[in-house]
Amino acid sequence: MSHASRVLAWYDRHRRTLPWRAPAGERPEPYVVWLSEIMLQQTTVTTVGDYFRRFIARWPKVEALAAAPLDDVLSAWAGLGYYARARNLHACARAVTEQHAGRFPDDEDALRALPGIGRYTAAAIAAIAFDRPASAVDGNVERVIARLFAIETPLPDAKPEIAEHAARLVPRNRAGDYAQALMDLGATVCMPRNPRCMLCPLATACRARKLGIAEQLPARAPKQQKPTRRGLAFVLARRDGAVLLRKRPVTGLLGGMDEVPSSAWREGTFAAESALVEAPVHASWRILDGIVRHTFTHFHLELTVARATAATDGPAGLPGAAWCTIDRMTERALPTVMRKVIAHAFKE
Ligand code: SF4
Repeated sequence: MSHASRVLAWYDRHRRTLPWRAPAGERPEPYVVWLSEIMLQQTTVTTVGDYFRRFIARWPKVEALAAAPLDDVLSAWAGLGYYARARNLHACARAVTEQHAGRFPDDEDALRALPGIGRYTAAAIAAIAFDRPASAVDGNVERVIARLFAIETPLPDAKPEIAEHAARLVPRNRAGDYAQALMDLGATVCMPRNPRCMLCPLATACRARKLGIAEQLPARAPKQQKPTRRGLAFVLARRDGAVLLRKRPVTGLLGGMDEVPSSAWREGTFAAESALVEAPVHASWRILDGIVRHTFTHFHLELTVARATAATDGPAGLPGAAWCTIDRMTERALPTVMRKVIAHAFKE
């Protein structure tokens, strides 16, 4: 029995039920596959579930998502992180609607030409939505393959070797089920710690298991230390509790999202008092105790928070800024770090 046949037989008995997964024997809508795969990048299945259901309820077809204002998409995405994904999601929906008449292309190259679709996502969509024999290698699959063949080269250098092995195992039939089966196997059996080899359909073939090194694989090159940047966030509140928010530039980190104004975020020594000169408006700023911490892909951020009461209940008087009452915050595209800042400002 081939590796793929064993994995497929296991999948038929143990497949996970997921909100975006079609019932056994049925093929899912490409739109559904694409949406879930974009959401699942860097995010866990548990977190994605609710977001996915909300998106599908609100925008059941790709054309509906394409027609939505970007701000609505960013607000609905708020909290999922890696916001470039949301901007690309919207751009991709528009490209599919305008250039492909609302139908996702069915081959990897055409999929990769769309915004936000990289090698892995293209392969996943081609396999799951169109049953193409494409090899979709995500972190879970990487782990299974590295162990199955006892690949000891550390990641990321091991990627080409892993990809080569993975591609050779893809079956001609049921390629979509096979892709999902490997993902499930990595997520529920071949876990990073304490792999459940006793339950694994690949146990008799697995070299890492034989060598007793499964848990040490895949090996990883030592991570570079992330730098820490620091800054001062300015929470200006009106007497009715509304907070001044402004929109970030469309490109770059948290592009197009809403934010509380802040000083520049810098590495090195930082004194909150000195950063007060960067306040967006003149006010009696009070620096609050404590620090808001958040980690981005490339750096840690520590924000001290300054708070002041606005002298006026009138317009914000700052370009690109607007007042937002606390009860309307959920409608705004506020990234998690900014939610933390506002919560900290109103803690006392
Ligand atoms: Fe992973 Fe163990 Fe299966 Fe090998 S036998 S693939 S280590 S779960």
